[in-house]
Amino acid sequence: MNEPTAPDDLRAWLARIPKTELHLHLEGAIPLDAMWELIQKYGGDPTVPSHEALVERFNFRDFPHFLQMWIWKNRFLREYEDFEYLSTAFAKDLVRQNIRYAEVFFSPVRFVDVGLQTPRLFESIRNGLSSAPDVEVALIGDLVRDYGPDRAMATLKEFEEVKQHGVIGIGIGGSEHKFPPELFTAVYREAREMGFRTTAHAGEAAGPPSVWGAIRELEAERIGHGARSIEDESLVDYLADHQIPLELCPLSNIKTAVFGLIENHPDRRLYDRGVLLTINTDDPMMFGNSLGDDYAALVEVHGFTRDEVKTLILNGVQASWLPSDRKERFVEEFTAEFE
Ligand SMILES: [Zn+2]
Repeated sequence: MNEPTAPDDLRAWLARIPKTELHLHLEGAIPLDAMWELIQKYGGDPTVPSHEALVERFNFRDFPHFLQMWIWKNRFLREYEDFEYLSTAFAKDLVRQNIRYAEVFFSPVRFVDVGLQTPRLFESIRNGLSSAPDVEVALIGDLVRDYGPDRAMATLKEFEEVKQHGVIGIGIGGSEHKFPPELFTAVYREAREMGFRTTAHAGEAAGPPSVWGAIRELEAERIGHGARSIEDESLVDYLADHQIPLELCPLSNIKTAVFGLIENHPDRRLYDRGVLLTINTDDPMMFGNSLGDDYAALVEVHGFTRDEVKTLILNGVQASWLPSDRKERFVEEFTAEFE
């Protein structure tokens, strides 16, 4: 039964129930307290004299500002122990939100370019994540399309060496327009041969052709974002017929101005057309959202019921890359705890 509830009750319920995240970038999800400590470790930054100034600094303004922030914060991630430290803080934040299972992107390339090594980066991250046993985190190696297909192939070979740290899949983030899926067909084929699961960012900055490319050229199992699929009727039908999961990130899409207002987000229309949707936060450090905020927006603005929220959360289990017996166990546990 869905009894009418006050907004506070909704927030409390959303915070309490178990959840999953399938589209979350580790480097964009560092809790601000941990980021503050890292900045202090390296002597501070005069442009960020206080914790409040840091919050304001990350207050997302537009996409160029986002890229600027992304690069700025990387200056304070220098040593392997920094990655262990931020991963510990990150995992504890997932536990605080009662996120019980997550598949999380990490892109080592920028850090490799300043002298760190992929295997030790993943080892440090795994050590940090292991300190929070109440959440299980699998890793997705992000090849970052902006470095081009040759570098992606080289990075992929490094990912094969770090599977023991729980790297189970690969993805491509970055500039969808400049680096379309077609460039990475051979990389994805190789990744599948290595036994990696696959997702690809598409249908966020670029329109439906990028999603078609991710499906037909890359044979991606999931679509990162995919929200702009709504612009192509036949694509929406295809996604629904084949139950290809979308990793929707509604509040991220508003912050990056893919859709002007949350009222314009196609989450409800895609759901009603039978597309398999999962709900995610993308880069919560940059966008200031929690997973509960994303679900609350769906309920408050698009009229999702609590039963529909439960369905979306369970979609996150079904669309995950867990083995089927583990999925069944999570579904049982979650269903019992929803009540
Ligand atoms: Zn993303």
